[in-house]
Amino acid sequence: MSSVLSSVRMRCTRCGAESEQPVYRHIDAVAEPELKSKVLSGELFLFVCPSCGSKNLIGSPVIYRDAHLLACVSDRRLSVEGLEGVAGRLVPDVGTLIEKVKIFDAGLDDVPMEFCKFVTRQELGKDVELKFLRLDGADNDIVFTYPEGGQMQMLAVGFNVYEDCRAIIGRNPAITEGLSGLVCVDREWVEQFLR
Ligand SMILES: [Zn+2]
Repeated sequence: MSSVLSSVRMRCTRCGAESEQPVYRHIDAVAEPELKSKVLSGELFLFVCPSCGSKNLIGSPVIYRDAHLLACVSDRRLSVEGLEGVAGRLVPDVGTLIEKVKIFDAGLDDVPMEFCKFVTRQELGKDVELKFLRLDGADNDIVFTYPEGGQMQMLAVGFNVYEDCRAIIGRNPAITEGLSGLVCVDREWVEQFLR
């Protein structure tokens, strides 16, 4: 796979003006590592309207690949090749893709991370959508963000929580047995093992 960029006619959601915009279908961050930072910043998924200057989200399906991860941003199952040696993930939106890239970039795995979120939600006693932000400090605390009261909150949990989750997964091979092809590893996926 290499990056595929096509010119697509897009419509501004603010002023309605139409313009031709470069839109990525495939993002190959192995062949073009500089694309990863533009994925992480969100830049590759936005276009600026030439008429009014508004930033618009490009909502079309895209396949992203780097050394650890092959992820499809799509609401339906796409068939992809080249899943050997990488985690194949189906993600519903760009925000989730960015989170997955951060997790694997930090040398972590999204399966224990989703379990870690489950445990953290239980401890918090709040039903919030946690997103991994980064590892922090000498002890590699796991920093999550979540929206609450119209603001983004930050929360750090000890790395031992992640390690404990990884150990539980290691003792339960049934959890990772189903991880072939493109899998949507999210809250729902984790909760099927915890009922
Ligand atoms: Zn516009």
